[in-house]
This record gives sequence, structure tokens and C-alpha cells, in this order.
Amino acid sequence: MKIGILGLGLIGGSLGYDLRSQGHHVLGVTRKESTCQTAIALGSVDAASVNMSLLASAEVVFICTPIGLIVPQVEQLIKHLSPTTVITDVGSVKAPIVKAISPIWSNFIGGHPMAGNTDSGIEAAQRNLFVSRPYVLTPEPHTPPDAVVVVEEIVRSLGANIYHCQPEQHDRAVSWISHLPVMISCSLIASCMSETDPEVLQLAQNLASSGFRDTSRVGGGNPELGVMMAQYNRQALLVSLQQYRQNLDELINLIEQENWTTVEAKLHSTHQARLDFVG
Ligand code: NAP
Repeated sequence: MKIGILGLGLIGGSLGYDLRSQGHHVLGVTRKESTCQTAIALGSVDAASVNMSLLASAEVVFICTPIGLIVPQVEQLIKHLSPTTVITDVGSVKAPIVKAISPIWSNFIGGHPMAGNTDSGIEAAQRNLFVSRPYVLTPEPHTPPDAVVVVEEIVRSLGANIYHCQPEQHDRAVSWISHLPVMISCSLIASCMSETDPEVLQLAQNLASSGFRDTSRVGGGNPELGVMMAQYNRQALLVSLQQYRQNLDELINLIEQENWTTVEAKLHSTHQARLDFVG
């Protein structure tokens, strides 16, 4: 199959590696000429260009640009495509993207691979990034079943686990488990940096080990992606952040009151509940 990828960064480049290894012919379009050359040299695409017309013969196109560019890029891309071409995207937010693209391209299905790392750009692309990872698809009642089947088959071939839901449900769910953690992790690092004694701050930096590495990882990621999560999933993220603040206030009160029994009960309950998310 001829598959197009628009945006050759971490996600687009990683998709390219795996799709080529499945025997697909992969065409990449990206902003910078230098990225085209790197993607070809690394073996992530068969051909690459800064010109969208390269994707004219693609049967399926994955849009892998930053969230804010997905809709404008599709608006520009569709004049180059045949109406049978299936478009899917990988954006971390779904409702605004699906709402804008569905009316202009019927063969569109929203998607979001729950995989990544804190790096960005083509050099950060990895083989087998999607293996055993959730991959959300958000077909709508009017999405042509053939388009859903084609995208599902490709996603399954990446080794990912497919989930279907409505775009709004997706945005609320990822607000809890992806966008809220980015903001909490960012606040954690910023709070540590507010230590006023330089010697203590230096000591904390020297002592930081696996616990801090785990809890700070997503707050140290791609800033552009973090801003776009907040901007495009603002309402759901604010609900999550307000709930988080309430939990934090409860903990502060319990610790001020030296109510260790309730602190322990809370930690027992979260110890159990965590298994339902990452068990
Ligand atoms: P990234 O590494 O920064 O890659 C995005 C690529 O898009 C850039 O490398 C850039 O390539 C290209 N690009 C930028 N502007 C462009 C334009 N005007 N036209 C064509 N290409 C353009 O970001 P990413 O992490 O792969 O994220 C891409 C998408 O995946 C986002 O929508 C994000 O929400 C989603 N996503 C990310 C993750 C994650 O953990 N990172 C996980 C799941 C989904 P050049 O080098 O050519 O400028």
C-alpha cells in the first residue's frame, strides 16, 4: 500500500520505520528539506518532499504535525488527493480536530497513539514505538466503514491495541492520564526550583534518583506539545487541574492536622487504584 506521512518528527518518523518494515511504500512530506534528507537516510521513508503534491498517489495519509497545524494542513492537503484517500491524524486532542476535518473530508478518522517520549524531531523517531501501546480511533456514525477498516488494519500491524471512543470522551480521558500529569510534573519541577538555599538545591539535584526521574519525566518533555495540549483541551484540563488542587488541599489539611490515619488510608486507596491504570 502507498502510505503518506505529513510531518516527519518523533511520531511520523516512527510510523515510517514500522510501515516500511511491513512492506508499505512510505511517502513523507515535512516542513524542512533537511528533515526530508535525514528521513530518507535513516530509512524512515522511501521518498520525501516539502511539497504536498508528493502525497497525491497515497491511499492513506497520516497527519503527524503539531496539533495546531493539523486542521490547516489538511485544508491545504485535500486539493492534492483523490476522494478515496483515507486521512487519519495522530493528534493528542481529538474533538476540535474531528469537528473541523469531518465536514471537509468524509474519509477521515481521528486517531491517537498513546506512545512517545520526551524528545522530538526525526532523530527521536524509534522503531516499534507502538508495540503493545493503546491506539485510540474516534470514528463517527457517518465515517465510511471501509475507511475505519483500512486504518484499523494498519494500526493493528504496528502491534498497537485499538480502542474506539467518541472524540469528547477521548479528550476527557487523556486529560486525566496525559495532560494533567504534564502540568503536575511541570509544577513539581518548578516547585523544586523555588528552593531558596543554593546548597540545598544543589544537594536535591545531586540526590534526585529514580522516583524523581519517573515523576518529572513528562514535565521535562516537548514544551510546544504541552502548550498545545492545554490550548486545545483547555476545558477538560481545567476540570482535571481543579480536582487535583482539591486533592492537594485535602492532603495539606490532613498533614497540618497530623491526621496520619487518614493520610495512610488515602495512600492505601491510591496504591490499589493505580493498578487499574497501569497494573
Ligand atoms: P515532533 O517530533 O515535533 O514532530 C512534528 C514534525 O512536524 C516536526 O518534526 C516538523 O518537521 C513537522 N512540521 C512542523 N511544521 C510543519 C509544517 N508546517 N508542515 C509539515 N511538517 C511540519 O512532534 P511529535 O511528538 O511527533 O508530535 C506530532 C503529533 O503527534 C502531534 O500532533 C502530537 O499531538 C502527536 N502525538 C505526540 C506524542 C508524543 O509523545 N510526542 C504522542 C502521541 C501523539 P520539520 O523537521 O520538517 O520541521
